[in-house]
Amino acid sequence: MPATREKLAGETPATRGSAVLAEEHFETLKRLKDLGLPVNPHIEKAATIDEVLKICHRWEQKRSKLDYQIDGMVVKVNRIDQREVLGTTGRAPKWCISYKFAAEQAETVIESIDVQVGKTGTLTPVANLRAVLLAGTTVRRASLHNFDELRRLDARVGDTVLVEKAGEIIPQVVGVRRELRPHGTKEFAVPHKCPECGSPVQKDEGGVYVRCINARCPAQLKERILYFAGRGQMDVEQLGRALVEQLVDVGLVKDLADLYRLTQADLEPLERMAARSAANVVEAIEQSKTRELWRFVAGLGIRHVGGQSAQILAERFGSLEALMEADRGALEQIDQIGPVMAESIHAYFRKEDNRRVIRRMLEAGVVPTPPQKREPGRLAGKTIVVTGTLEAFTRPQAEQAIRAAGGKASSSVSKNTDFVLAGENPGSKLDKARKLGVKVINEAEFTEML
Ligand SMILES: [Zn+2]
Repeated sequence: MPATREKLAGETPATRGSAVLAEEHFETLKRLKDLGLPVNPHIEKAATIDEVLKICHRWEQKRSKLDYQIDGMVVKVNRIDQREVLGTTGRAPKWCISYKFAAEQAETVIESIDVQVGKTGTLTPVANLRAVLLAGTTVRRASLHNFDELRRLDARVGDTVLVEKAGEIIPQVVGVRRELRPHGTKEFAVPHKCPECGSPVQKDEGGVYVRCINARCPAQLKERILYFAGRGQMDVEQLGRALVEQLVDVGLVKDLADLYRLTQADLEPLERMAARSAANVVEAIEQSKTRELWRFVAGLGIRHVGGQSAQILAERFGSLEALMEADRGALEQIDQIGPVMAESIHAYFRKEDNRRVIRRMLEAGVVPTPPQKREPGRLAGKTIVVTGTLEAFTRPQAEQAIRAAGGKASSSVSKNTDFVLAGENPGSKLDKARKLGVKVINEAEFTEML
């Protein structure tokens, strides 16, 4: 059926067993439709993979005839019992896949090129386009990624370019029609100064990114605040772009900590800010003081640290103070934290400026909520090596189960190994375990331990 946002993992064993759900998905949908529930009218059943492909190709041609946007098709195994045999990986069912159409492209003209400054100071060239309809929306801007990419494309003001929108990603310029280039165009010059604060810029070690390195750059501060307040971080919806720009421009906020000193009286004189909304903003910021620790850590905008890494750090260190004092070794020891991220985190908390801002936030009453203490897993502190073929688990699933129970999954046997979990055809790891006197367990014993 044509669908863009359909959730892939819709059915669980718990939802089955009622009269609505049949042995086959197609039949279930028919029953739902008979009950008067909205079901996509274009669902089709195919007997072979060639038929599936034919349907996909047909819809790729016909998609503009629909009154909603689609970027592909969802193909599902019809029989529920076969779905159960196929099972799921960590993130998605194996009986369901999406077939993505080739991205739609459109041709338009670059009217000008802007340079935007991101929260870590990265300068990004952005093309302003003659408005063009692309995949159902009017596109006026497109990313040019970075200055290396801009040079490779050699996109210039006045050029006719191809823009593409793939999935939900912002449109991007993917090609230049050189033969249509007007006379007298110039290659876009890489800026030497930040377009927002005028400070000299620096090229990254890797050479791809150009950065404003002024710690007080207002453009960066605006992006940092917006990121801090973003839904995946501190989630303060009231701190929108228009307000944040004013707060920085009038000098009310010079760093993240200043947010927690804002009063209703500070905000009321701002544009489009009534007494009521000023109070709401102050209240929303106040409420964020006790957000979970991981949200606070994610909100700091440490390079390479996203929400998931922040959760791992919060779990591992349990408090902001402990994380701030962690040495590089302790950070590198965490499985999911690579050396680049460890270095980035360590460097961030060593910087006096950053420490001062965090201290001021704490003084203003910010108390991130530490993660709830979990029961130590059954395998806490145990190092386990998996070898051979198991019946109920793939290797990654077994390793995931070990980690979920607090253990460490290792790939090689040493005298520090607590157990070797041996399946069919275990090979040399089993020999080594025996030689070293490491305990060997079978799958049944492993399941028991879990
Ligand atoms: Zn700047």
